[in-house]
Amino acid sequence: MSMQDIMQAELAAIYTGHGKEILAKIAPLLEPELPAIVDVFYDEFLRIPEPARILKHHIVQKNLRLSLAQWIASLFAPHQAADIPALVERQKHIGMVHAGINVNLSYFTHGISILKREIYQRLKRHYSEPETFSTAFILIDQLFDLLTGIIAEAYFLSEITYETNELSLKMKGVSLNAAIECERLRASLLDWLRATLTLLYQAAEPDPNSLPKLQYSNFGLWVIYKADLLSHTLHISTDLKKQIREIDDALFQAARYRAAGENERFFEAIGLLNDAVTKTSWFISSLVDQMMEIDSGLDILTRLFNRRYLDTILRRQTDISLKQGLPYAVLVIDLDHFKQVNDRHGHESGDILLKSFAELLLLSVRTSDFIFRYGGEEFLIVLGNVEVKEALGIAEKIRSRCEMQAFRLAGDLSIRQTCSIGIGIHDGHPDYARTVRQADAALYEAKKTGRNRTIVATE
Ligand code: GH3
Ligand code: MG
Ligand code: MG
Repeated sequence: MSMQDIMQAELAAIYTGHGKEILAKIAPLLEPELPAIVDVFYDEFLRIPEPARILKHHIVQKNLRLSLAQWIASLFAPHQAADIPALVERQKHIGMVHAGINVNLSYFTHGISILKREIYQRLKRHYSEPETFSTAFILIDQLFDLLTGIIAEAYFLSEITYETNELSLKMKGVSLNAAIECERLRASLLDWLRATLTLLYQAAEPDPNSLPKLQYSNFGLWVIYKADLLSHTLHISTDLKKQIREIDDALFQAARYRAAGENERFFEAIGLLNDAVTKTSWFISSLVDQMMEIDSGLDILTRLFNRRYLDTILRRQTDISLKQGLPYAVLVIDLDHFKQVNDRHGHESGDILLKSFAELLLLSVRTSDFIFRYGGEEFLIVLGNVEVKEALGIAEKIRSRCEMQAFRLAGDLSIRQTCSIGIGIHDGHPDYARTVRQADAALYEAKKTGRNRTIVATE
């Protein structure tokens, strides 16, 4: 017997059995009170900001007042056994509707408690004997609990379906030829710019308020409706919306200067507008890289693993270590004063050095080890089947190779670079994050005590 069968049987027992007479007495008492009950209900609800936002539309209120009153009346109306399945279906529908308009279920249960309280207070005066009143009230309570149980279940089911669909839509978004979509987007952004600039130059005194805003262009609409579906991990729409606002502001300023005949400022504003559009266009094309990176789990610059699989790998490693008695070590490696490389030689040179360093790492460990780009200029290596001594040996090999190497940058330029390393040894503790924390702390020690050194975590 499913839960639904049980609920249906209980409802049938109430409507056709012990509750039949009690309900028949309540229904006519309650009917004249319904408008007042509904009023109290909405008065209380409209004072809570979130439901108020959903209910504020007057048509919604009018319809809801009516359907709430009907719903309460229907609960106390007589039902034959054969009516019960339809009654259940109506409650399920209510649950789905509430999920569909995104009403938090806690508001729903709060609403039910208001209804119960109001019904209770209003019925009380009609009952002279406490005993018959408490029998009636227990029945009402049971009825509400059963029906709200059905509503809540349908609500959750509907939410789950929604979440799953949204997730699969997001997944599809990534594989749905993101590259083509991004190219089309860049094209529509540039179309908008061209059309808008034409308007701006043609009108002697353009009205800043009547120029087509990027926000409502094809590009802007895509950001509103689809940006977040393109990738579920990037959350790109916030950045894009900010950029769109900047572009629309720049356009507004440009139109104002144009209308005022302030040519110098006008060209300055056009320059800003162009820069902002270029930035957004660049951002869109970098999205494809980022999505492919997330998709593949590889860091685009160094082709090492990115952090995506770090947890998975560490969990496996810990599992193997605990089952097979193979100890492992975590090295956290950070390039020393790397900011200076960017400052002195430019960001591109910094990138070249990061790539070379990644190669150095690859050549310094066994193929069974894992190398991650842990952060900007920070790397993490998981060394399998090593004791402290071997781990230290490998770390020192990396450190000294780095120190000895002349890293070639663009042109004939080559520079020296050192790194600091912290080592954590897995000690059988099931929480692998502990080993990473130990390695981090050891790295911090290595930095503090002068850099270009390796330190093994002691604790
Ligand atoms: P420390 O010895 O204390 O580690 O000094 P640091 O300069 O290396 O450390 P800090 O954390 O101050 O700066 C790290 C710099 O690494 C900042 C950032 O410019 C640079 N960086 C991070 N990721 C990248 C990247 O992908 N490419 C380039 N070129 N630089 C990066
Ligand atoms: Mg550093
Ligand atoms: Mg760092």
